[in-house]
Amino acid sequence: MPNCIIAMEKDKKIALVAHDNKKKDLLEWAKFNRDLLAHHDVYATGTTGKLLEKELDFPIKKLQSGPLGGDQQIGAKIVNNEIDFLIFFWDPLEPQPHDPDVKALLRMAVVWNIPMACDRATADFMISSPLMDSTYERLVPDYDAIHTRKFKLR
Ligand code: PGA
Repeated sequence: MPNCIIAMEKDKKIALVAHDNKKKDLLEWAKFNRDLLAHHDVYATGTTGKLLEKELDFPIKKLQSGPLGGDQQIGAKIVNNEIDFLIFFWDPLEPQPHDPDVKALLRMAVVWNIPMACDRATADFMISSPLMDSTYERLVPDYDAIHTRKFKLR
């Protein structure tokens, strides 16, 4: 499949999201990594963002709460290249009213080849990667080329 490249800057556009039973985990993780996170551009869903801002003491760009569309907003920002890194502590043990949105966000992150951690151990490995502080060429499927070929558009 043909790919194209999206260049990721040194400073990443990071989204942080945690379901209610995972918020404590995310807050602890973010507090521990506060200085590593501080120079990036940090976004979060509504409630997660408010809690993080209190804990970290630097500005967080807050979107809607997850059940009100915050996950969808993050998905749209991934599509628009306004978010390029996702820490999403979703809860595997409790049903969520916005489960389709959760699934859609997970899908968008994979479609756009976004680094994504869904648990604390992966988040630890990701945040300590040397790639956190360098540029990175992210490969994404080139649908234009694919469709041009498939439907003989030119
Ligand atoms: P919240 O949303 O940060 O507003 O709680 C998170 C979610 O449920 O996706």
